[in-house]
Amino acid sequence: MARKFIQQRRQTKDEMFDAVVKNAIDFIDSSLDNLGKRPKNGIVDFYTAIELFLKARLMAEHWTLIVSKSDSASLSSFSVGDFHSVYLEDAAKRLKDVVGEAIEDEALNNFKALAEHRNQIVHFAHTDYADVGGIKAGVVMEQWRSWHYLHELLTMKWKDTFNAYIPEFERLHTRILAEKDFIQSRFQDLQPVIQQKQREGGVFVECGSCHTLAGLISETNPWGSNYVCMVCQKAGVKIRSTAEKVACDKCGHEFEFFHSTVSSCPYCAQPIDTDKLISLCKIKYTTGDDWWEEGGPCVAYCHECQYPKPSVFYIDGLWSCVSCFDRGWQAIACPHCDAFVTGDAERIEYFACHKCEDEMTQKMMNKMNL
Ligand SMILES: [Zn+2]
Ligand SMILES: [Zn+2]
Ligand SMILES: [Zn+2]
Ligand SMILES: [Zn+2]
Repeated sequence: MARKFIQQRRQTKDEMFDAVVKNAIDFIDSSLDNLGKRPKNGIVDFYTAIELFLKARLMAEHWTLIVSKSDSASLSSFSVGDFHSVYLEDAAKRLKDVVGEAIEDEALNNFKALAEHRNQIVHFAHTDYADVGGIKAGVVMEQWRSWHYLHELLTMKWKDTFNAYIPEFERLHTRILAEKDFIQSRFQDLQPVIQQKQREGGVFVECGSCHTLAGLISETNPWGSNYVCMVCQKAGVKIRSTAEKVACDKCGHEFEFFHSTVSSCPYCAQPIDTDKLISLCKIKYTTGDDWWEEGGPCVAYCHECQYPKPSVFYIDGLWSCVSCFDRGWQAIACPHCDAFVTGDAERIEYFACHKCEDEMTQKMMNKMNL
């Protein structure tokens, strides 16, 4: 492999660690510097910073952990920057298996989503900057969400490793907070346009991404409304809510449960997590929709959040997941693996459900001798 074209001075391990962390901090700064002119670069740079921070954390454990093929690692090539870098999933796996510090699913999923967006930007460069303000608002929200997880890792979980840089992280935190104000000021600036749309009969809902009341409804379905946000340009679905109640098994009071914000019983403060909600709903919701057959399963596996247990009940006229709070999908028994699942019925029938799709793909590949 001819990877020797970048000649670097040999550095000690501490110097390398310091260089990687400072480099990561630089990337966050530049992701903020460019927001006004080239907002999409803000995603690319921000993601690079995340990878660098994960690498730094691995390096602090042992330098061999950031070399892709550990068996071919040697300190001499490492110290001159001659190594294949590990990528997000690989880095996360090593942190979990070798360092014993798993990144929590929510944070990892956020980083993965950012990685995907970064790849789209890099591979399909759009030059369409007709609405720089709208793109900037979307990027600001993505940065904010990823920073939330990154900041927590750097200043809490990995505090001992990154202690010397905490003042820098707090400086970045202040910068990112200030950018977030842009969302509100853009919402204010757009008021004349929003009011004009309202006069023309337009209906607005809260945007799930930037949380302003700027999601203009484009289509209404039985399960909710599709909207496009005028502030951050994100498209989304406002799911039809329900005020259904279940009874707390500790104090007996009924409470509204179908919100992601519910974490305890409002009467006795008993913690309510997903497993608890599932067990409470099992008592109350014991049938399915019109297609459901008496005696069949009435709790489905959710293809959206893929919670490991069945978490989708037929609540208030719609199949509703008490883990991710998505609603309105169909629930059917998969003809291939027999699991009772949500998803697109046609896709499940002709291909596979989310539980058996890996297996079905493998079968098809074997058939085609791939
Ligand atoms: Zn928005
Ligand atoms: Zn209670
Ligand atoms: Zn779900
Ligand atoms: Zn299946």
